[in-house]
Order: sequence, then C-alpha cells, then structure tokens
Amino acid sequence: MKSTANHHRPPAFSQGEGTPPQRYDRRQALEMLTRMPLGELMGLAHAARMRRWPQARVTFVCDTNPNYTNICVTNCRFCAFCRKPADPDAYTLTPQQVAAKVQAARARGATTVLLQGGHNPAVRLQDWLAYIRAIRESCPDVHIHPFSPAEYVFMARREHMPVEKVLQTVFDEGVDTIPGGGAEILTPRVRARIAPAKASAEQWLETCESAHRIGFRTTATLMYGHIEADADIVDHLFRLRDLQDRTCGFTSFIAWSFKPDGSPLGRELAHQPVHPAKYVRIIALARLVLDNFDHIQSSWFSESIPAGQLGLVAGADDFGGVLLEENVLLEAGHQRLATVGDVKTIIRRAGFAPAQRDSYYTVIREFDVSGQPPE
Ligand code: SF4
Repeated sequence: MKSTANHHRPPAFSQGEGTPPQRYDRRQALEMLTRMPLGELMGLAHAARMRRWPQARVTFVCDTNPNYTNICVTNCRFCAFCRKPADPDAYTLTPQQVAAKVQAARARGATTVLLQGGHNPAVRLQDWLAYIRAIRESCPDVHIHPFSPAEYVFMARREHMPVEKVLQTVFDEGVDTIPGGGAEILTPRVRARIAPAKASAEQWLETCESAHRIGFRTTATLMYGHIEADADIVDHLFRLRDLQDRTCGFTSFIAWSFKPDGSPLGRELAHQPVHPAKYVRIIALARLVLDNFDHIQSSWFSESIPAGQLGLVAGADDFGGVLLEENVLLEAGHQRLATVGDVKTIIRRAGFAPAQRDSYYTVIREFDVSGQPPE
C-alpha cells in the first residue's frame, strides 16, 4: 500500500532576510579558505548567517542512525565500517530488527531515522521497501530519511534499473527526504584514489538532481582532510551551488573531517586528523559560497564540541543531530553520543537559543536560554 505520510515538506529554499552582497567566484573562495585571517572570515560568514536568519537561534534534530547492513562490496579506502560477507562481524538486519531499533530510539525522543547501509548485493529494492514499511508500521510518526545518493546508484545497478526509477519507487512509498552522504569530495581525481568503485562525482550530482526533480529534498555533504587540495574543496562547493541554482532541492550543507583510524587510507597516509580550525574555515566558506542554501550545519558530533560551537559563530545555523545510535564513525574510534539536554547546553553556551527541528528544518519546539520551553 502506498503512503504519503512523509510528504509534508515546506517550500524549497527561502531567500531569507536580505540578499548577499555579492556572489563569490572561485578565486575569491580559494583566497578566503587559505589566506584570509580566520577572525575576518568568521565575521563575514556570521554576518551572512544573521542576514538570512536574524534570530540568535540554533536548530538541532533528535535522530537515530541505525545501519541496516555493514556488508559492502564498494571498499572505499577511507572506510572502517564495511565488512565482507564472510567476516565474523558482518550483519544484515531484518526489517523487524530495524523497526525495533527505531522504536527504542523513538521512546528516547527520536523524531527521525536516518537509515543507511553498506552496498550489499544481497539487499534488494524490495528489502528497502520492507524496511520503510516496517518502520512506518511500528512508528508512524517517525520521519524516515533513508539511503544516500551513492546507495541509490548501487541499487540501480543491482536492479538493472535507471536511478530515477529507484528514486521514484521510494518516493511513491511516501519518503521525500534523502541524506546527502557519499559525496566525499566531488572531483574525479580525489574520488579515483579514495573511493574508486563508488558512485562518481557526476553520478552523485545527477542522482541529487533527479531526486530534487521528483520532489525529494536532500542534504549535501563533504568529507575533507585526506588527499584533497584546497582547490578541490572550493570546486566541490561550486558544484553544489551550481546544482542548487537549478533545483533548489538542497536543504543544508554538512561537512566532516576524515577519521583515519581503522581504514586503509588512514594506514597509508599515517597522518593526524586535521586541525579543527580547518573545519571552522570550511563552515564559514560554505555559508559565503553557498548563498543559495538555507542551512549550514556545524556538527558537535563529527568534530568536537568547541569546534562545533565555533562553527556557530562562523556561519552555521544548525547543530545537526542528537544521535541516539551511530556506527560508522564509531568503527573509526570516534564515539560521541549525547542527550537532548547536552546539546541544548552546548548551544546555549555558544550564545544561542536552541530549537528542535524536523528533517525539513521546520522548528517544532523552541527553548529559551535556560533550556525550558517558553511560557
Ligand atoms: S563508505 Fe559506504 S560505500 Fe564506501 S565502503 Fe564504506 S559502507 Fe561501503
């Protein structure tokens, strides 16, 4: 039975208050990323954020991120999560097991499930639909935010179908938001080294474009701190901006740094994680270059609490998810789970009023600086 339970999204991309003073070009963006004093860059980005969102409010979502399988044949070189089918800790969850996880998270306050998994040839499109139906049956009020563009490309290949048909099938199931994972760095040179078998940069962008045209809203992501050059980061942002000019389908931009532990690329590069200042620079640059994106996320989760807080005064207006389950970065030795109370405190200590949102970035609950709902 088809359902349209998720189809309540607000209109795409609001212009906000005021317009940006200019559109930055690639040369200016590279200059800002590499040479502009950090304080100046943060100030510019914060001013742009306050023009778009004049309230000193920072949003967060209460979500859970179960992975339905860790079996993957794509073997990205930065990944510590994937397993081969014969590995002793390889798993594929049943729809009932996924639904039980979502139910447990819902009992702790989750409103959204971000559902992703490895590229497992044994998981077919019917299985995806079974996951969606099982979650919807047990938790009809939980928003289902499933499957990254790279997973869609893999599923289309597996099912010998055009990607558009796979997208449409999921959309017809009542799903209308997609996490923008798997973008990494959208330049062929970098992808050839870090994820040669994954959806190409073109395929990732084409999948987002098709999804937006069907009616999905998606996020956009970036993973830096491995073999990319600064110019690749700039190129990545401009490719996102160009696509957003055509579709207005991206809700937000989310960046995180490569976590080297446990991955083949980490062993090869043998380097330390990048300095948090780079994260703050990327957040600020994203706010300035992505002048057609409503939301820029600063994540306490993937970096550190101080870096996440600095991002909030460098252009970000969203603090991401209060993750009630996360496995991918956990496998890379990076564990950060928090409560809603923790996240509200972190936001308040950065000088903002926290507000809980849904997956369309609509505010569903506001809190004052003391963390209590307004009278
Ligand atoms: S990042 Fe995703 S696609 Fe790549 S190896 Fe890991 S699970 Fe597979």
